[in-house]
Amino acid sequence: MTRWLHAPRRVALLSVHTSPLEQPGTGDAGGMNVYIAQTAARMAERGIAVEVFTRATSSDLPPVAEMVPGVLVRHVHAGPFEVLDRNELPAQLCAFTSAVLRTEANNEPGFYDLVHSHYWLSGQVGWLARDRWGVPLVHTAHTLARVKNAALAADDTPEPRTREIGEQQVVDQADSLVANTEMEADDLIHRYDADPAKVTTVPPGVDLEQFTPGSQQAARRALGIAPDAKVFAFVGRIQPLKAPDVLLHAAAQLLAAGKADRSRLVVLVVGGPSGTGLEQPRALQDLAARLEIADVVRFLPPLPGPELAQVYRAADAVAVPSHNESFGLVALEAQACGTPVVATDVGGLRVAVDDGVSGLLVPGHSAVEWANALARLSFPGLRGKMSDGAVEHARAFSWERTTDDLIGAYVRAAVAFQGEVVAS
Ligand code: UDP
Repeated sequence: MTRWLHAPRRVALLSVHTSPLEQPGTGDAGGMNVYIAQTAARMAERGIAVEVFTRATSSDLPPVAEMVPGVLVRHVHAGPFEVLDRNELPAQLCAFTSAVLRTEANNEPGFYDLVHSHYWLSGQVGWLARDRWGVPLVHTAHTLARVKNAALAADDTPEPRTREIGEQQVVDQADSLVANTEMEADDLIHRYDADPAKVTTVPPGVDLEQFTPGSQQAARRALGIAPDAKVFAFVGRIQPLKAPDVLLHAAAQLLAAGKADRSRLVVLVVGGPSGTGLEQPRALQDLAARLEIADVVRFLPPLPGPELAQVYRAADAVAVPSHNESFGLVALEAQACGTPVVATDVGGLRVAVDDGVSGLLVPGHSAVEWANALARLSFPGLRGKMSDGAVEHARAFSWERTTDDLIGAYVRAAVAFQGEVVAS
């Protein structure tokens, strides 16, 4: 039975397949890690103790680490001390759940007031924890297999049926479902038959202290880029879903159409390999060679926030050519730095970018259309106007607001949960 109706005192966050302590931009670490790290830290500032459970991928990791005061990360021993493919993880969920339940059992009764699972694998664990502890389960899917499979890149592998079935079970069991956008809420309701009363939309945020507008010239100097170059950047995990190849084709098109001068064109690709796209960075280098633009493209490893901000500031435009995004934090971060975004007209990117104001949305992936959109943004007049629009658009989002909205969702989940318990 739930004992609180204002804000929980202690929350268990479940993040089975990736840790908020990892550097995002490679492997399984991306926006979800940033989301958990940012909201957990702000919950702690609001007096809510947070414990994040994640799978230990190395024997060097301590069983418990303090991320910031008030946020503990518990490294759960479930399966070998190595990174496993996501498709191998369902077999480790029993071991993971057992460790989560034991942690609670070793504390006083009612230790956690609520469990919040991120991604469907964690939802499976949260479902059992909810039933055992008698607390509400809040779930955030982050991505949905049916949505991803409906807009698959040509060289991508469809998400397995196991995932769809597992997601459906979690949607049915959770007391509250948190969606990033109204579109995702709609997907939950129409593709997964979620009860609309259980679905809350909570827009993600952006760190407005880290991602600030700054001098483009200073950023270019720091990166060794000529002041008068046309600079376009891709930031994110290198995987078919994110389609960084679209930016390379567009760059080749800019040169072929005489819209850019080879000695003054720079394409920055920041990020590391990910999941099924492990071979992709190599494939991207091969593609650059085939397109005869290897001299124009610079590959950089995953970078931490302050260095990423310099990349965003140095660029005339940041490209987000994904086949689908439930949101797209990179788009928001670039805009917060004053850089307009060219993004595919799909999913959460329609919310992350204000088309024609803070950037441009392009339907599909035609190299000609992408090249045209990038070329438009390299004209100082339009770029300057959209830069102001970008900063203003990004400022409407913040992790503070996301956290407040999440706590609101927690409270509503507790009320609903209590109603269910009383009724049963
Ligand atoms: N990121 C980073 N360093 C990198 C590349 C990416 O820190 O080199 C971060 C980036 O700042 C963003 C996140 O990874 O916050 C990616 O989130 P997004 O929503 O764009 O994509 P996802 O990874 O969730 O698909």
